[in-house]
Amino acid sequence: MPAIYRGKCRACAYQSPLTPARYLALRVGVNEFEPLPHPCESSTLEQLGYTWKRAKRERRLVAVDYLICDRCGNINEQYRAIAHQSCPIVIGGLILSCTACLILLPINPIGRIIAAWVIFWLFGKQYEAYCDRQAEPIQRSLPSLELCDRCNSTQFHPLSSLVNQQSICPACGARELKYYMQGIS
Ligand SMILES: [Zn+2]
Ligand SMILES: [Zn+2]
Repeated sequence: MPAIYRGKCRACAYQSPLTPARYLALRVGVNEFEPLPHPCESSTLEQLGYTWKRAKRERRLVAVDYLICDRCGNINEQYRAIAHQSCPIVIGGLILSCTACLILLPINPIGRIIAAWVIFWLFGKQYEAYCDRQAEPIQRSLPSLELCDRCNSTQFHPLSSLVNQQSICPACGARELKYYMQGIS
């Protein structure tokens, strides 16, 4: 349930389009992406001839973050590879670590529970790092945002970090624009 934002300028009455801070997209070609707007991700995927399973297996799902240019207020897009974690592996890790500690450790029950939690936490960290490593080649193949589309600046802020903060209006250039949360989609 992503939050939806709109930027409003006090100096010139400019209003940005309603937008989430990020959205999900399907990579359909080398540098071609189709947005999967919330809450119609599944039906859009179907229209494009994909299922969630296939899109994940082929590593076609990417997150697109909106980054606001600090100099001109333009909304830029940054593509981010998603590190998919498998639920069965996480649950399997939890069951294994609990079973091993609860049955095998020759210590008191509280100690066993703490040990199980620590082992599961360590497993989770390793698994997360493994998934991140798997996503690295995908990240390298995505277009990277170096310069603002409009003014070539290299300074950006994620849209979500600017909510209720004073930022630059892309229409009049005054630092009088604020993004407000308008609801949940
Ligand atoms: Zn700019
Ligand atoms: Zn303005």
